[in-house]
Amino acid sequence: REIAVPIESLDQLSKTSMPLCMRVCHEHIRTQHHIKHGGRMQYGLFLKGIGVTLEDSIRFWRDEFSKKMDVDKFTRSYEYNIHHNYGKKGSMVNYSPYSCLKIIKEMAAPGDCHGCPYKALDQTTLKSKLTSYSLSPSACEEIMYFVSRGHYQFACGKYFMLTHNSQTEVAINHPNTYFEESQNLMG
Ligand code: SF4
Repeated sequence: REIAVPIESLDQLSKTSMPLCMRVCHEHIRTQHHIKHGGRMQYGLFLKGIGVTLEDSIRFWRDEFSKKMDVDKFTRSYEYNIHHNYGKKGSMVNYSPYSCLKIIKEMAAPGDCHGCPYKALDQTTLKSKLTSYSLSPSACEEIMYFVSRGHYQFACGKYFMLTHNSQTEVAINHPNTYFEESQNLMG
């Protein structure tokens, strides 16, 4: 994407255009003012991919983390990593945002907010999360149908359809593609 996405729009975008894996990370940061390394990678690279600039990224993480630690500690311990993810420090590798396959297979650990929620959360927790996002009981059932069969990317596609009033069946392969499809539908 060419257009920079301002961090002021992230609360809104997390509700309208982010897949569940990123919406959950966003909420976690907003409420806990901290997120573990895996979540910083998963969500941080996603943000880079949707067009959040390096400067805005630093401001976003700093504003949240400094609610719980002093700014110096943030700068010392975390800022380098953000530069690194944008390819500005260290190996100068330009890290790509993670695909669904990577997130589903490698990212989940018990008690962490990152990973793919369709796989990582137990079904009761997942259902109540979906309900809290105003999905109807029948919509939840449609999603859980795929979850219970281990088809997490189809569950994600169903969530996309239900939250965008879209008729097209999709399986999601990448969180950033999900975001772009959503933005396209919204014009
Ligand atoms: Fe995220 Fe992919 Fe899981 Fe959807 S299927 S929640 S985009 S990891």
